[in-house]
Amino acid sequence: MSGDGNGASRREAVALGAGSLMAAMMLDSTRAFALTAGNDAGNLEGLPWANKAMRWIQVAFVEDDPPSYDPQFWFDFFKKTHADAVCLSAGGCICFYPSKLPLQKRAKYLGDRDMFGEMVKGARELGMSIVARVDPHAMSEEAFAAHPEWAACTIDGKPRRHWAAKDMWVTCQNAGFMFDFMPQVLKEITQTYQPEGFFGNRWAGSGMCYCKTCRMLFRMATGMELPTSDDPQDPQRHAYIAWNAEMRWRQFKLWDDTVKAVKSDCFFSPNGGMNDPNKVTIPIVGVDRQGRSGPTPLWMMGKYAKITRAYMHNLPVAGIFNVGVEDHNRWKDSVQRGPELQAWMRGGIAQGFRPWMCKFKAKPFDTRWVEPVTEIYQWHFANDRYMRNTANLARVAMVNSTQTGVYTAGGAPLTAGDNIPVAQRVTDSQNGYYQALVESRIPFEMADDRQLDAKYIDRYRVLVLPDIAALSDAQCRQIRDYVTKGGRIVATGETSLYDEAGRKRDNFGLADLFGCDYVKTGSGVQNSYLTPRHPHDLTKGLEDAPRIIAATQQITVKPHGDAKPPLTLVPSYPDLPMERVYPAPDEAETDIPMAFCNTVGKGRVVYFPMDIDRTFWEVLAEDHLVLLKNAVLWAAQETQPMTVTGPGLVDIAYWRQEKSLAAHLVNMTNPMMMKGPYRTIMPLDGPLTVTLVVPRGVDTKKVTLLESGKTPRWSRNGHLLTVEVPSVRLHEVIAVDLS
Ligand SMILES: [Zn+2]
Repeated sequence: MSGDGNGASRREAVALGAGSLMAAMMLDSTRAFALTAGNDAGNLEGLPWANKAMRWIQVAFVEDDPPSYDPQFWFDFFKKTHADAVCLSAGGCICFYPSKLPLQKRAKYLGDRDMFGEMVKGARELGMSIVARVDPHAMSEEAFAAHPEWAACTIDGKPRRHWAAKDMWVTCQNAGFMFDFMPQVLKEITQTYQPEGFFGNRWAGSGMCYCKTCRMLFRMATGMELPTSDDPQDPQRHAYIAWNAEMRWRQFKLWDDTVKAVKSDCFFSPNGGMNDPNKVTIPIVGVDRQGRSGPTPLWMMGKYAKITRAYMHNLPVAGIFNVGVEDHNRWKDSVQRGPELQAWMRGGIAQGFRPWMCKFKAKPFDTRWVEPVTEIYQWHFANDRYMRNTANLARVAMVNSTQTGVYTAGGAPLTAGDNIPVAQRVTDSQNGYYQALVESRIPFEMADDRQLDAKYIDRYRVLVLPDIAALSDAQCRQIRDYVTKGGRIVATGETSLYDEAGRKRDNFGLADLFGCDYVKTGSGVQNSYLTPRHPHDLTKGLEDAPRIIAATQQITVKPHGDAKPPLTLVPSYPDLPMERVYPAPDEAETDIPMAFCNTVGKGRVVYFPMDIDRTFWEVLAEDHLVLLKNAVLWAAQETQPMTVTGPGLVDIAYWRQEKSLAAHLVNMTNPMMMKGPYRTIMPLDGPLTVTLVVPRGVDTKKVTLLESGKTPRWSRNGHLLTVEVPSVRLHEVIAVDLS
């Protein structure tokens, strides 16, 4: 299947809605960018190097690097890590080559040197591919003096000084710096160095700009003034979201056309902001996870691999991991220690990322990252053929909804001022179900809500819809067709209660599948419970629990039939004073349904009228884990392609390559797993028994463990292959050679 999409992540999309990329990045400092070949390059023939490049390295230069860095350090490093491609800082705000453009400011200590050129030459001698990094988000005092109209402006029309570099000015994303000056920069670099491609950092502006150009262009396009509200249901903001996407498309197209005019197989890759997976074709995508703060579970890198692969399909995706400590406080000049680096990288590789190391500053004064990174790259190279995945074998996918993030927040509109915490709701529901599936050891993928056509989703047995509030009529139809033909869904909360633009419907778009009609939403419900009913597959494992905690957002619904629900509500009762903590006599047990398990056509549907996944993310109650797991297994009604028994918390993935199978086990059993800062790798003592469903018609020749290097005990019984893994240090891979 050819990938034909470039989707901004939900957070970027939220950023478009909020007009603040910075604010969105603070949610978890994750961005996606696309190395984009443009509309007409839908195959890899034009860019075979991108598909071959398995290991990436990025060096982002700083101004005092030129006189002090040692290029040979990097050439040696590229060589010993078997890196295939390198991304190097070229120009934009500040350039690292002797530009002839007077307004492109040279790095302070560059002198007459050509640092970018030296590094390009050395990497070329190693046979590496080159991607030039440009960053246009700021300009110098000289450029501002010559073109004050290039500056971004605040709401009162004043030009914006750079927030960190006081001798620089923030550039407007719609004015001459982006649309006249940067094309000259891109042209000069392409002519001089002939790079394979460009990577544009902070290319889409720095939040809302209220300069004269922006005001005029928006008025001409929409007849309206620029919005001052962040609420996506505000007509001006609604129009702005679409207009901004169109402007970024034009900017991208101009820059991509500019480099292609000089070198036909070159391309420009925007860092985020391209927002239509059905419009742009990309040869490779990188996802940039620079930091962590607050709860950032260790599977986060893997999640971004899945989100990106959902629209890239079988095209390569790279996971950019920063050798540096960053959260929203942005300590750019330090490094993580080995265990943390390794844990994040392995988590991403297991879910299909190619490693892309990013180092700020070319003179590495703190070198503690060198050994762990080298070790992983060498391991990756040694096992290269097991990393060239051709298919993921999961049968469950969770839907990732960009539009729900942009236009609703799990029902609540994104409102001005505090949009970030509200938008967080959408992510929390997703993370809750994600955590539950990881803990349940159910192999799963992500699916992109912009590609719910049969050709993308029919390979899955089950789609999970974690509070996917915004779904168009067409998307509801696609899901209905999927279920009728035998597909299965598990949905929660306000799924389908809003249309694609976040306008509330009178009833769920999927009411017929859910088996109930919408009445109202109750939020912030305290001290309410659920009664599990037996026997039912949904409540298996809760036989000894007469009452478990309920979710805090509860949807009142009117059931279509009179089937006995497997889960019923104990309505909220007082939580204080202690003497009053008991339900009213007639409410200790009710028949108010809190789960529906329906058979529809050839398919199955589970619907929870509550935010059980978001509540799970908040409370992590094991009773909810049981329900979330059982829901998927009841819906699936088939053996999972990979099952794991034994102790510990492992993130799993099951892949096919041309002549092999690879089953990944990432050991996340660690007290720091929900925060990310691994102190030490704590090996998981097994044994773990892994059972794999082997695709029909293939013979299993040899089984190897890629971390321990040993041959495990294994047996084959029909289409089931059972392997005993004695222990997992951090990341074990069961590699199965096929004959
Ligand atoms: Zn502007």
